[in-house]
Amino acid sequence: MPRRRPGALRAARGDFEGRRPSAWARELPPVDRLSPAASAEVHWALRGRADEVETLLSTYRDFLRRPGNGLRLAPSLCESCPGCARDDVALVRDELAELYRGLPPGARRALGRVLRALDAEFRRRTMPASVPFRIGPDRQGRPYAWWHRRVYEGT
Ligand SMILES: [Zn+2]
Repeated sequence: MPRRRPGALRAARGDFEGRRPSAWARELPPVDRLSPAASAEVHWALRGRADEVETLLSTYRDFLRRPGNGLRLAPSLCESCPGCARDDVALVRDELAELYRGLPPGARRALGRVLRALDAEFRRRTMPASVPFRIGPDRQGRPYAWWHRRVYEGT
């Protein structure tokens, strides 16, 4: 069997551009329920914004902690301010998607697993809206993600 190139091994371990997270990133506490290796990658890639991942995940879980099915999303009364935007769980999920996109592969896989489980529950416990709450494209010129097409309060 041919010996694998060191670069390929590094990539297989999921390091960012073939590099290990710096020592400081490996010394910081774990992020949410991610492994120490994935957490180090999150700290390394997000540079001080890793706590946002935790805050956003806990806001997403809080939404899902409400009892029953047929959960309705609450619109934010003031979307342009970052704190109030998070009253709307779809905007919270957008921020998670944005942070996810900036992660190295190993951390992406780890956060992806957490998000898939939460998304499955979100899909199960909210209802599809026949008319989307937001008509795209969003501010980045992208179509709004599926989590915006759920039933909101008052609709
Ligand atoms: Zn506000």
